Amino acid sequence: MLNVVIFGAPGSGKGTQSIHLKDKYGLIHISTGDLLRAEMAAKTDLGKMAENYIVEGQLVPDEVVIGMLEDTIKKNPEAKGFIFDGFPRTLAQGEALDEILKKFGQEISIVISLEVDDEELIDRLLKRGELMGRSDDNRETIESRLKVYYNQTAPLKEFYAEQGKLVEISGKGSIEEIFASIAEAVDKVVAEKKE
Ligand code: ADP
Repeated sequence: MLNVVIFGAPGSGKGTQSIHLKDKYGLIHISTGDLLRAEMAAKTDLGKMAENYIVEGQLVPDEVVIGMLEDTIKKNPEAKGFIFDGFPRTLAQGEALDEILKKFGQEISIVISLEVDDEELIDRLLKRGELMGRSDDNRETIESRLKVYYNQTAPLKEFYAEQGKLVEISGKGSIEEIFASIAEAVDKVVAEKKE
């Protein structure tokens, strides 16, 4: 199996690049943000609870997203691999993901970290807010999300660097250029697996 974590700050392009990865490598794309927004739209209890965190730019509690993620993995026993987009976002989630994959005899193959500076991130998110009307793409919430990213999520880079799995890629440039760099890194891992 090929299991890719696509990592980066809000607005770094994780979702966009995940779609390309999914098409090229035939993987199942799991976006915890999309799963949570689907729960919100369906007005489930989980969705209503999550909404309070999301509109504030805070993280939904670990046990909730970890449970949701494990359920999604279990629902896809035939998968050739997964793309984890927006998960893990805390060290506890990172450790949980390793444990869950271990239960299936699997592990993370590579962690792609998309690097984009704050000015560009804020710009992109404000534009997305105008286009898509996402309730968390407003200036105040964007600022909290960036703080949360640097305080709670960015430390995971060290966790994956220690495992020798982290690859940092510039998230600036055209979508195609960025994807070409990502595919190069993923192809290398695929080739190593075959050896
Ligand atoms: P972005 O990467 O642009 O912030 P996402 O769709 O990944 O967009 O996430 C939107 C919001 O959903 C986050 O700000 C957070 O509140 C919640 N969320 C998504 N994934 C997680 C997660 N793994 N853990 C906790 N909260 C999450």
